[in-house]
Amino acid sequence: MRIVSNSIEGRDIAYQMHPNVNLRKYEKTGGLVIESGDGIYVTDNNGKRYIEGMAGLWSVALGFGEKRLAEVAKAQMEKLPYYHTFSYKTHGPSIDLAELLISIAPVPMSKVHFTSSGSEANDLACKMVWYRSNALGNKDKKKIIGRIKGYHGVTIAAASITGLPRNHESFDLPLDRMFHTSCPSYVHFGKDGESEADFTARILNDLEELILKEGPETIAAFWGEPVMGAGGVLVPPAGYWEGVQAILKKYDILLVADEVICGFGRTGKMFACETYNIKPDVLIVSKQISSSYMPLSALIMNDAFYQPIADESDRIGVFGHGFTASGHPVATAVGLENLKIIQERDLVGNAARLEEKFLGRLAELAKHPLAHSSRGVGLIGALEIKPWGDAKPGDAAAAVSAALEEEGVISRNIGEALCFCPPLIITAEQIDDMFDAVGRALDKVEKTRA
Ligand code: PMP
Repeated sequence: MRIVSNSIEGRDIAYQMHPNVNLRKYEKTGGLVIESGDGIYVTDNNGKRYIEGMAGLWSVALGFGEKRLAEVAKAQMEKLPYYHTFSYKTHGPSIDLAELLISIAPVPMSKVHFTSSGSEANDLACKMVWYRSNALGNKDKKKIIGRIKGYHGVTIAAASITGLPRNHESFDLPLDRMFHTSCPSYVHFGKDGESEADFTARILNDLEELILKEGPETIAAFWGEPVMGAGGVLVPPAGYWEGVQAILKKYDILLVADEVICGFGRTGKMFACETYNIKPDVLIVSKQISSSYMPLSALIMNDAFYQPIADESDRIGVFGHGFTASGHPVATAVGLENLKIIQERDLVGNAARLEEKFLGRLAELAKHPLAHSSRGVGLIGALEIKPWGDAKPGDAAAAVSAALEEEGVISRNIGEALCFCPPLIITAEQIDDMFDAVGRALDKVEKTRA
C-alpha cells in the first residue's frame, strides 16, 4: 500500500500527473496550489497573493473575478446546460458568438467553427486544409510549413506544426508532411554584424528556398503566430509579414494565422493581424475568447476556404468531423459575454494605451546587469536574462522567475526569457507594482551570484 501525505500537495503528487513538467521533479517538489483569484491577482493555499503576470496561460483577459461571466454560465446551465451542434441541430449561444466573431474579424470572413482548445482548432484546420486540397483535386498539395520555435499545440498535427523539440522528441513527431522554416527572432538568430533588414531578407529567402526545394505544388499552407508566444515572446522584424505573404501569394499557399494568444486585444488591436497587416485565410482563436473561464476555441475562415470543403461534404454526404463539445452552449455563452465586456470596457484600447508604459518599464529593467534586452508589443513582453558563466541553459531566467514568485509575481521563464502577459484589465499602477518586483528579484539573484 502506498503512503499518501494528507496535505493537498501530497495528494496532488500522489494522484495527479501534470502537463508540461518534468514528472520526476514534480514527484519531489510538487506544485504551487492556487486557491482563489480576484482582478489581476491569485492567492495560494497559504494565503499569499500574487500578481498573475502571465494571465494564467496568456489567457485570462478579464482577470480572475469577473462575476458577469459566472452569472452568464449559471443562467445558461439552468436554461440549457448542454446541447450539441451535430446532425442538423443548433442553439442560440453558438450562433450569437459566431455572428459576433464574423463582425469583428480583421478581414472578411465567412464561417466560424467551434472547438474547445487551441490544439484542437489547429489540428482541425490542418485536417480541413487536406480535405480542401482533395476537394479541389490537388491530391499532392498537403505539406505544411510551420516555423522553428512556433507553437500551435500538442495534438498530433498541431504538435507537428509546432517547432519546439520538446513537443516532438519521443512522441515520434513531427509527421513527415510538416516542415519548419526559420524563426523570425533577430535577437536569437541574427548573425554578428547582420542588420535587422538583412536578417529579414535572409529568413524570407529561407522560406522561398524551402518551398522551391519541396515543390510549390505540394505545399498547402503556412502556419504562424503573429507574435510567437510559447517560443519566448518573439516579435517579428519590420517587413517580415509583408514578405511572407508575398511569397505565399506567389506560390498559391494558404495562410493560417494562429491568434490563440494575440487575439482579442493582446497587441493593442482586436487582432494582431491588424497590428501586422496580415490577411489570413483561416484565423485560429482561443484563450482570451472566453478569458479561459470555459474551454473554447474557434476557426474563422474565409469563403474561398469554406466553399470547397462544403462541396466535398456534399459529395461524401457529411463533413465527418465534430466533437461532443463543439460550440458548447455554456462555453459560447461565456465567450460572448466575455467579448462584450472587452468591447464595453475598451480593454483593447487599454492595452494600446498602456503599451508605452509596459514596454518602457521592461526596457528600463533591461539595463540591469543581469539582463540582456527586452522586447514586446501591446501587453505581451519579455526580458532576456544574461546567463552567468557556469549557468546551464535556462537556469538564469528560472532563478529570476523563482525569486520573482517570492516577491509575489507569477511570470514564465522560457529559455533565457522572462515572459509577461498580464490580464488586459491591468492598470498603470499595477504595471509599476509588477515591474518594481522584477527589479527586486533581479537584485536578489545578482546578490546570490556575487
Ligand atoms: N496556439 C498557440 C499560439 C498557443 O499559444 C497555444 C497554447 N499556449 C495553443 C495553440 C494551444 O492551445 P491549447 O493549449 O488550448 O491546446
